Amino acid sequence: MKIDYLIVGQGLAGTLLAHFLQEAQQRIHIIDNAHQGAASKIAAGVINPVTGRRFVKSWRIDSLIPFAEQTYRALETEDNIPFYHPIPIVRSLFNSGEETNWLLRSDEPSYQQYILEDADLGAYKGRIRPSYSYGEVARSAKVDVPRLVESYREQYLQQGILSSTVFDFEALELLENGVRYKQIEARKVIFCEGQRGIYNPYFNYLPFNDCKGEVLIVKIPSANFKRIFKHRIFIVPLQEDHYWVGSTTDWEFEDALPTKAGGKFLENRLNDMLQIPFEVLEHKAALRPTVRDRRPFLGVHPEFSQLTIFNGLGTKGASLGPFFAHHMMQYLVHQQALDKEVNIRRF
Ligand SMILES: Cc1cc2nc3c(=O)[nH]c(=O)nc-3n(C[C@H](O)[C@H](O)[C@H](O)COP(=O)(O)OP(=O)(O)OC[C@H]3O[C@@H](n4cnc5c(N)ncnc54)[C@H](O)[C@@H]3O)c2cc1C
Repeated sequence: MKIDYLIVGQGLAGTLLAHFLQEAQQRIHIIDNAHQGAASKIAAGVINPVTGRRFVKSWRIDSLIPFAEQTYRALETEDNIPFYHPIPIVRSLFNSGEETNWLLRSDEPSYQQYILEDADLGAYKGRIRPSYSYGEVARSAKVDVPRLVESYREQYLQQGILSSTVFDFEALELLENGVRYKQIEARKVIFCEGQRGIYNPYFNYLPFNDCKGEVLIVKIPSANFKRIFKHRIFIVPLQEDHYWVGSTTDWEFEDALPTKAGGKFLENRLNDMLQIPFEVLEHKAALRPTVRDRRPFLGVHPEFSQLTIFNGLGTKGASLGPFFAHHMMQYLVHQQALDKEVNIRRF
């Protein structure tokens, strides 16, 4: 079988890139081992334009949000399932210093679309322990990343363009103008392996700095929370009375499995926040493909031009993914130069 691009990994990165390559009429095939350990399967998919203690805008967020919304909507049209949900974030402000910083930011013209001075607590009112004060983030969103990758997995299987197996590096032959992988001849391989990129013999020289995250799925009967709430950790509404609660951030870990300590930490935090009972339904963990300089990995192997990478979406795949998957497609198909900040040549 002759194709243009062989994609390894069908998490958020591989799915978005596959979408843009198909849109550009490229022939693709994907290899994914059934989302084993995929960060995309447990991510809340929150797009939060203003982060950190000083409430700074996320890198390039003014361009990333409109592009993300447009892309997820296009993916919905193909699939008829809503993936992109605009939803405000109410966040606790813990002291007068934070409140002052928030108010100062809300006065800055470039922040006005993202920061509301007065927060509407909605159904959280009376159900959470009071904080010093609250702020509300606008233009934030929740992307249903697990559902997106699952539903596209089904589609790719139906189209016969996804092999559900582990990629075998031993079977990869480098040809003069492409690669052969078993029955497949492709012009290029694009590795979108997420955290597993550290085991890729061609790209493991890149400074991956994986970060483990644990989350709880909880039931909070009759809470009826419609907004995202941030009080050190996030409460993110899922369907009916189910909520995503997370996450932990561990830079040192033994494996990618949920731990007792991680579960307890999240449960305690939730107890500190809520004045109403909840029930833990699930406890999950995965590794985020984070990068030391917090910028994605795009580009071509320094020696083998047939081998390329799209990875390093880190903690912000939902917002970074669409824009940079499109950028990668433009680079591959239309030979457009890669942005220096994301090009792996920076290492
Ligand atoms: C707890 C947690 C919470 C998060 N919350 C958010 C959030 O709220 N907002 C946000 O924007 N981001 C969030 N993220 C980050 C987000 O999940 C990632 O940025 C994004 O999902 C990364 O996608 P990916 O496709 O690069 O990697 P992955 O989702 O890990 O996908 C990689 C895929 O490649 C496959 N694969 C790898 N190697 C091979 C191989 N050799 N052969 C075959 N298949 C292979 C895997 O099976 C997997 O399916 C969160 C992450 C975690 C862990």
